[in-house]
Amino acid sequence: MSLPFTHIRTICGEFLILVAAMTLVSGTAGFYLFRGFGQPVMIAAALFAFAVPLATALPYVVYLAVRLNSLMSDNAGLKRAATTDRLTGLLNRAGFEGEIRRHIATLERKQQGGLMLLVVDADNFKQINDRLGHPTGDQALKAIATELRHSIRAGDALGRIGGEEFAISLPCANIGQGRTVAERLRLAINALSVGEGADAMRLSVSVGGAFSAAPQSFDVIYAAADHNLYQAKQAGRNRSTISAMGNAHGYLRDAGKPVPATP
Ligand code: GH3
Ligand code: MG
Ligand code: MG
Repeated sequence: MSLPFTHIRTICGEFLILVAAMTLVSGTAGFYLFRGFGQPVMIAAALFAFAVPLATALPYVVYLAVRLNSLMSDNAGLKRAATTDRLTGLLNRAGFEGEIRRHIATLERKQQGGLMLLVVDADNFKQINDRLGHPTGDQALKAIATELRHSIRAGDALGRIGGEEFAISLPCANIGQGRTVAERLRLAINALSVGEGADAMRLSVSVGGAFSAAPQSFDVIYAAADHNLYQAKQAGRNRSTISAMGNAHGYLRDAGKPVPATP
């Protein structure tokens, strides 16, 4: 059962309990207030006092359910807008953080498997804007987003967390699986280009990844992945640098050797 429907049912149920309580109060008050007018009047008044709130409850509850339903769908739309990046349609930073925190919480509960965070940054993107213009730069970002969307599985989370920076959260069993995904998406993006003829520019990304077998806070995992992204940029771009994190002391620096670009 969907969450909004459960909410509406709870609110309408509470409203009906309130109606039942008020009916009891008004019916009982009817008995006492009309005692002096004789038994037939007293019974008629009490029955009237019982019947009116009960009879009016149905249209009220229908009205309540309809209005709540429309408010909740407005709310869902606002929530979607607040967590979606308008250019690419991916999650924005807030939306992505929400998803990866859910992945971390699942890892904490299950106590098995691990989590890989990949930070994907477009290489020399400023040059694309400078040479081909901002609208073409936007097209390049959309093309990268589409390629990334195709590179992930249903349970993974993908977001645009900065101007030309994307992030992927992959629940996976070991570092090897995350490495494979990182290389696959890097190569797929490197096959794309923007611009026409002599102006065509090939796209490439650098990927920094951190794998953690133990639950860590998002900030800690992100710092490790960002460190590796920096290493990949320093090593020449268009490559991925992935490392496993130690449980207590952050990432294992020696595991973070860059994977060179394939010629
Ligand atoms: P590096 O390989 O070191 O990452 O170099 P870079 O040029 O990609 O990085 P830098 O941080 O110097 O420049 C990022 C550029 O991305 C500058 C900014 O104008 C561009 N950018 C950020 N957001 C958008 C956007 O929404 N659309 C377009 N077209 N460009 C954007
Ligand atoms: Mg960049
Ligand atoms: Mg950047």
